[in-house]
Amino acid sequence: MMFQPDAEAMPVEQRAKLQEERLRGLVDRLLAAAGVQAERLRAAGVTSGADVGLADLPRLPVTEKNDLWAAYPFGTLGVPRSEVVVFHGSSGTGGRPTLVGYTRHDLQVWAQVCARALAGAGAGPGSIMHNAYGYGLFTGGLGFHQGAVELGAAVVPVSGGMTPRQITLIRDLQPDILACTPSYAIRLGEALADAGLRPGAGLTLRAGLFGAEPWTAALRARIEELLGLRALDIYGLSEVIGPGVAAECFEAADGLHVNEDHFLVEAVDPVTASPLPEGTPGELVFSTLTREAGAVLRYRTGDISALRREPCACGRTLVKMSKITGRRDDMLVIRGVNIYPSEVERVLLGDGALSPDYLLVVDERGDGRELLALCEYRTVSGPAPADLEARLREVLGVRVGVRVLPAGGVPRTEVGKAVRVVRWTEGEPPVPGLV
Ligand SMILES: [Zn+2]
Repeated sequence: MMFQPDAEAMPVEQRAKLQEERLRGLVDRLLAAAGVQAERLRAAGVTSGADVGLADLPRLPVTEKNDLWAAYPFGTLGVPRSEVVVFHGSSGTGGRPTLVGYTRHDLQVWAQVCARALAGAGAGPGSIMHNAYGYGLFTGGLGFHQGAVELGAAVVPVSGGMTPRQITLIRDLQPDILACTPSYAIRLGEALADAGLRPGAGLTLRAGLFGAEPWTAALRARIEELLGLRALDIYGLSEVIGPGVAAECFEAADGLHVNEDHFLVEAVDPVTASPLPEGTPGELVFSTLTREAGAVLRYRTGDISALRREPCACGRTLVKMSKITGRRDDMLVIRGVNIYPSEVERVLLGDGALSPDYLLVVDERGDGRELLALCEYRTVSGPAPADLEARLREVLGVRVGVRVLPAGGVPRTEVGKAVRVVRWTEGEPPVPGLV
């Protein structure tokens, strides 16, 4: 179940040599491209790729989202614009888009790493992949699409939304692989159940690749129960390439194998950017070892995860990253305690009476900052969840107030995903009637 076993199961020392060689190539390409990354390399005393080895990584300059914004739209291409065959990106926060160019070779690499992820989920020629990731500027839809074609599987390019049509296609085409966001997997699973399609009764899905938003082990259990498949995590971002940077294997499903022959990964301290020991959660930083357009050295993702290198049942020797446990920017500081919303989610979803939709309200009225978790019943009403406040206090080390609303009480965005955190300053409450 490996698409490129030579690369995925390569002995670790041999891969390190390959990474070092490719890192030197990346540094040479960046220096030749003469952008901000070249300026910083020269300022750090690097004038040639031959000057650096893997051990020098911590002293090499980092790249941040602001650098991509400052160079928008063509400043970070790194190749003549005529060599770019496609652009992708994200709408980004604050309405400022991030745009990334791909050469023909970049597209090949991207298709291959997505094919690796699909093969790792048990897909192959003959498989049918129902692709409900959005198609367009966003990398999700087209990334998976190209990966499936590369693997020789058949793609159903349904894209996001229009759930009734998705149900018809799943019932009629009987796909074995599902690709979408985890929140949409829940909506789809509930809609399929309403249409009488359940595991063992009309559903043929064997595995799903879910990504593009953070999700918890509890959400995994709920997706697996609803859809009767193995729910696997996949990770990627357009600034690095898109989906396929890392993915879980079907055999272990306990961490995502990073395709580190293409994407050199580090976990660093989110505040100081210094390297952290293996197993310690930190901010993921990637260097694109083989990219031509949009090459980045030590790109700071803002995503928090821990790296682990250990033998895996699947035979891959690629380092594993844990599920993303938070965002550097999402981190809330409540009475001096650092809290990631995902930690609260894990506790809330551990209660079977509650729906996966929740809202965290940072109450900034008055002197202090209080955290309030709004959640809702899965069904019309139910027994009050037991001791949630006590469990939250035990896990987070800080008091969190809990309010349980009727089903549907937590506000949604138009794509159905709950808004996770709002601030309550003076004036109207974020939810009508909240006191
Ligand atoms: Zn594995």
